Amino acid sequence: MQADNNNSLKKDRPAGLERRWFGYLLLGLYVLLVSVPVILAYLTRPGGMVGFLGFARGLALTGFTLLALQVPLGSRLKFIDRPWGLDAVMRFHKWMGMLAVALLLLHPLMLLVTYAHDMGLGYGAGFGMLRGVYGGIITLALLLAVVFFALFIRRIGWDYQHWRYKHKFTTMTVVVLGFAHGLREGTVMPWPLKIYLWGLFLAAAGLFLYRNIYMIFWGRSRWTVTSVTSETHDTSTLSLQPAGGECPSYRPGQFVCLRLNRPGRPSEEHPFTLSSSPTSAPRLTVTVKESGDFTDTISQTCTGDQALIDGPFGRFSFQFDSPESFIFVAGGVGITPLLSMLRYLRDTEDNRRAVLVYANTTEEDIIRREELENMPPNITAAHVLNGPPDGWGGYVGYVNKEILRDCAGDLLPMADVYLCGPPPMMDAVEGELRELNVPRRRIHSERFAL
Ligand SMILES: Cc1cc2nc3c(=O)[nH]c(=O)nc-3n(C[C@H](O)[C@H](O)[C@H](O)COP(=O)(O)OP(=O)(O)OC[C@H]3O[C@@H](n4cnc5c(N)ncnc54)[C@H](O)[C@@H]3O)c2cc1C
Repeated sequence: MQADNNNSLKKDRPAGLERRWFGYLLLGLYVLLVSVPVILAYLTRPGGMVGFLGFARGLALTGFTLLALQVPLGSRLKFIDRPWGLDAVMRFHKWMGMLAVALLLLHPLMLLVTYAHDMGLGYGAGFGMLRGVYGGIITLALLLAVVFFALFIRRIGWDYQHWRYKHKFTTMTVVVLGFAHGLREGTVMPWPLKIYLWGLFLAAAGLFLYRNIYMIFWGRSRWTVTSVTSETHDTSTLSLQPAGGECPSYRPGQFVCLRLNRPGRPSEEHPFTLSSSPTSAPRLTVTVKESGDFTDTISQTCTGDQALIDGPFGRFSFQFDSPESFIFVAGGVGITPLLSMLRYLRDTEDNRRAVLVYANTTEEDIIRREELENMPPNITAAHVLNGPPDGWGGYVGYVNKEILRDCAGDLLPMADVYLCGPPPMMDAVEGELRELNVPRRRIHSERFAL
């Protein structure tokens, strides 16, 4: 078993590098796809792309292309997730959405300047001309609403699922309206550019239908819940077995998007880390903490309930890095990806050193305490509580430099750190690790937010 594992780890290193190169290739392709419309317009009608008017056209073409490319970026495509990880792709998706809005807002402003100055119409007449372009105004207003709600959804407190559906469908509507507006009003539309924009539009629309119709009904693997185990007062583990078909291969630490179909309950899709190790395939487990509308009902799941799974996703796994030793730092339910990695180390009899520093509020919050304390001798677990009971023998307070040094001082110079927990804790621990001279490249983290 050990030999097999070492072989697979040796294979992981080049795989990780190839993935990175593939990632840069994809990024290059993205930049190319975004630049092509302006290049095509310039090559075929150079006269139409100069001055304020040319700049305004360039802004519209690039803004629309960025917008159409938001569809693949937001579609959880595995070939994009593999090199970059879904969380990084989602962050990029957000930034590109904001860039598209900025360019598309500048587009009418530049037209206004053109009408007012270059054409000598004055601002009043310029506004009048812009007001006539109703399609463009509606498209821009919808786009602003999409970005506003995407940025402030958490503060507004809207239901996340409903927002997600609205976000996807409104963005696609904006792409359709934007495309129609470009075809209707665009005056520099040589046929190569038209073909490119039609191709881009049809590809985005096709992908949208594939993700939101085909994938929802036929594209997920089907699973049956085989047990529901209460872990703590607010956390439960669901075990799942494939209902026909195979278990997808996954890396310890990766996550899936799980949709439970439970009689009498709305069916929603949520991301959860696989707390099981790939060594227990085809059985999978997810360990879920009650923290909102959907997760509050997790303990009401019954044996025999059906589930759909999309995934695995994510790059939070030591198999992408193959370090010499590990420091795992978890807070609360953030233990799930680390539990998967620890179980994998145990089951494959991997004898690399690993230290787990696990923070919780109270003793009752500790998930799988017995299992964590009974790992092989190369794996040690230390608990940190900020609400300890009388006579508590573990660490007290929050994870800090002193605790890290005390638990894993000898590993700090070479180990890779895997960190998952509530965002404030992760920020604080990252700071402490940096002060302990752990370089950023050796700190890997997963936030439970996309
Ligand atoms: C990569 C990843 C791995 C995760 N692993 C685990 C795990 O192992 N165990 C666990 O208990 N929790 C995990 N979570 C968190 C879990 O997904 C959320 O707690 C859950 O979706 C909350 O849903 P809710 O309806 O109960 O709460 P709500 O109150 O509706 O949502 C609370 C917050 O959860 C997030 N959220 C809700 N629905 C979704 C969704 N469909 N997609 C993305 N984010 C959403 C949003 O930020 C939202 O503001 C993980 C999240 C991510 C992103």
